[in-house]
Amino acid sequence: ATSPSKSYTITLLPGDGIGPEVISVAKNVLEVAGSLEGIEFWFKEMPVGGAALDLTGVPLPEETLSTAKQSDAVLLGAIGGYKWDNNEKHLKPETGLLQLREGLQVFANLRPASVLPQLVDASTLKKEVAEGVDLMVVRELTGGIYFGKPRGFSTNENGEEIGFNTEVYAAYEIDRIARVAFETARKRRGKLCSVDKANVLEASMLWRKRVMAIASEYPDVELSHMYVDNAAMQLVRNPKQFDTIVTNNIFGDILSDEASMITGSIGMLPSASLGELGPGLFEPIHGSAPDIAGQDKANPLATVLSAAMLLKYGLGEEKAAQRIENAVLDTLNRGFRTGDICSAGNQLVGCKEMGEEVLKSIDTKI
Ligand code: ATP
Ligand code: MG
Repeated sequence: ATSPSKSYTITLLPGDGIGPEVISVAKNVLEVAGSLEGIEFWFKEMPVGGAALDLTGVPLPEETLSTAKQSDAVLLGAIGGYKWDNNEKHLKPETGLLQLREGLQVFANLRPASVLPQLVDASTLKKEVAEGVDLMVVRELTGGIYFGKPRGFSTNENGEEIGFNTEVYAAYEIDRIARVAFETARKRRGKLCSVDKANVLEASMLWRKRVMAIASEYPDVELSHMYVDNAAMQLVRNPKQFDTIVTNNIFGDILSDEASMITGSIGMLPSASLGELGPGLFEPIHGSAPDIAGQDKANPLATVLSAAMLLKYGLGEEKAAQRIENAVLDTLNRGFRTGDICSAGNQLVGCKEMGEEVLKSIDTKI
């Protein structure tokens, strides 16, 4: 290895359930991929979620948040579990994740959904539709109807109970998510599809107008627009047409889950949450999987691929990121599978062994 020319501080938040198992694998992979590219990491491991509740009484201790804020990127395992589901103090581990997102001010949630050639059979779609799917949903995470005011319950003129919410987007909120999406598309295949409901909703009309305005800064990216109902249909009809999708909070919530299900393998899917300044938050999309926790059965690849996103989108270290992505593909090519993605003819391995195989592949070129 070359002598380190760059160094970064990474906050590791293993959390609960399978979190510590998958984070331990991803840490080793980051360390080795980094050293091959002349990058040195300083890891700071902090408690979050149920683990933090047990230790300190709160799901996001002050010190965990301040450490995370001061680092270059944050890698999270998973949060929650049966143990805390009926917490007497009414403090839920999951609250820690919401507080973390708020504390880091991460407004852009990136969720790739690719059907790897080795795992086509895991897809819920027909082989010819699933083959070659490689898309990214960029979801606005801190605005829109989930946060808009006024909201609440009231009664209408007939005395009947009503519930109401408000979809609000300010131009700056749309501009900043649009920029993240254009940058993301630029690092991929240069195609961006903005999804809205601009035929019906004023917030969507502004969304489309602002996205079109920002597009002038990115003449190299090909922009298209689609109504959300059509996008939901196109995602299952012909997902290959998409490269990068950008959309608001509620549409992105639904479409990113839809997109992840077409790949069919929850143990493989990473995510990134980015802010304007400060560190990004990187985590697998799966939960703490309490049913298999502590048994060395978890698939660590979603977290390993989250570490690759950390390098690419968090630190701009694309070469090291590519190394990790190649290593994952090579490990799958060599037939190694954890239980969640294993089929006939594969070599069934546990979480740790999968990590060791990825390390053996880390020098491969694909
Ligand atoms: P959340 O915590 O987000 O609510 P959840 O409880 O709905 O998540 P998960 O914890 O993701 O769901 O688990 C759903 C199922 O998928 C479980 O059967 C779990 O064992 C399995 N699973 C989740 N992640 C992995 C993984 N990395 N490897 C293998 N199996 C997994
Ligand atoms: Mg759960």
